[in-house]
Amino acid sequence: MATNDKLYPELQLFIDGEWISKGARKSEQVLNPATGEVLGELPHATKEDLDRALAAAERGFKVWRRILPEKRGEILRRAAEILKERGDQVTKVASMESGKPIAQSRIELHMSTEVLEWYAEEGRRAYGRVLAQRQPGSRMFVVKEPIGPVAAFTPWNFPQGNPARKLGAALGAGCSCVIKPAEDTPASALLMAKALQEAGVPDGVVNVVFGDPTEVCPYILRSKVIRKLSFTGSIPVGKELMKIAAENMTRTTMELGGHAPVLVFEDVNLESTLDMCVTAKYRNGGQVCVSPTRYYVHESLYEKFVVGFTERVNKMKIGNPLDESNNMGPMIHARRRDAVDAMVKDAVAKGATLNTGGEAITGPGFFSPPTVLSNLPDNARIMKEEPFGPVALINPFKDFEEVMTKANSLPFGLAAFAFTDSAKRVKLIGEQLEAGMIGINSFAISVPESPFGGIKESGHGSEEGIEGLEACLITKFISEV
Ligand code: NAD
Repeated sequence: MATNDKLYPELQLFIDGEWISKGARKSEQVLNPATGEVLGELPHATKEDLDRALAAAERGFKVWRRILPEKRGEILRRAAEILKERGDQVTKVASMESGKPIAQSRIELHMSTEVLEWYAEEGRRAYGRVLAQRQPGSRMFVVKEPIGPVAAFTPWNFPQGNPARKLGAALGAGCSCVIKPAEDTPASALLMAKALQEAGVPDGVVNVVFGDPTEVCPYILRSKVIRKLSFTGSIPVGKELMKIAAENMTRTTMELGGHAPVLVFEDVNLESTLDMCVTAKYRNGGQVCVSPTRYYVHESLYEKFVVGFTERVNKMKIGNPLDESNNMGPMIHARRRDAVDAMVKDAVAKGATLNTGGEAITGPGFFSPPTVLSNLPDNARIMKEEPFGPVALINPFKDFEEVMTKANSLPFGLAAFAFTDSAKRVKLIGEQLEAGMIGINSFAISVPESPFGGIKESGHGSEEGIEGLEACLITKFISEV
């Protein structure tokens, strides 16, 4: 894989340690969403390529699991170092293919390398236990072993972070992996695979393939080689993959969509809360699974909150993500832009107030304006469907019970946030909000040592934290007499 001769690398498959160019394979164009320009031609794996990747993962697992955790950790840490050394290229490539502002790609690189470093350490802590004897001379053990080859399918919105979570967990636990990253953002995952290869990951342990996901993902998942699926993506696709996983009783980790509520109580510092709320909403153009979405603001602050929010949004600068002065880039593709546009129009038609934004931006690239909607009726589609775009929804509330019911009213349960100065309320919020991750007076809910995952239709299982490693381990009980 060429990494240094030009910024955006040649797009290839990576199977059994070999970099495979397009050749006669089918392919698709990868576009820069800020300009619409073609960045590269992405080869699609053939059935033979997929069989080769699966066979390599089966062999690679046998090799990798025998390498001691300390050595595996050294390799993961070295890969993190290589990615940092190539930080300029890695972050520019991520921004070019995902549309994420370059400053956010730098944060994502930091997060990704921290995740690899976390699993490098945590892999050494796959502890079992020794049970108390039942008869003299007997021994009973609980041991943890790597589960086996992992299938990982990732979305485009964190082109470095999602592959880092999945590869870090699998490799830290001693598993091999066949990963199919999003076709929109392939180069970021390939740069990570390259770093892992150069750091010393043996051939066959990491395999990267692309193609038509409706064919490639089921084919990989149905293979008897695969012992675990780690999926990040939308709820409908997650449900389909769960059905396929059931055929072989394959273990799953499902990181799916959300529709995060933000509860703003009357005792907050309005200005600093607004600063945080606006920055968090438009991160990556709202294309974030834990993006704050439904703002419920106490009626005593409501009008001021909407005005302050809108003023801040009107000062934002939208444009090419490589221009450091821009706060927000484009949507990932025209489909996302059009879907957001349709949801905003539906809300306005049903009576919501459009405070700013609203009209999709024409011209090169797939830009959607940062938008603020207030006084939304419950029947607006966007109040129930994940917007996955730069739209803030702001409604008033009167009392705690009412807002808690509203916050928990959707079938999702990924992230939820609340802002208040009351210690009593903080306790109740922690107890009553139905979400896998809760931020109180903060939107920072993800560090490598904390479990990241949702409940209800947002999925099950966690990545990162001790839970992330555990998800790639099996528990074996051994009784000796
Ligand atoms: P998506 O479900 O369309 O795609 C995710 C992955 O699945 C990609 O690799 C894609 O190629 C593949 N895929 C797509 N259609 C498929 C099909 N029919 N069969 C099998 N595989 C298929 O999701 P997306 O639009 O790329 O990403 C956005 C979604 O991901 C949002 O819902 C977002 O909330 C969610 N997400 C969740 C988390 C989390 O950790 N919970 C993180 C990021 C994104």
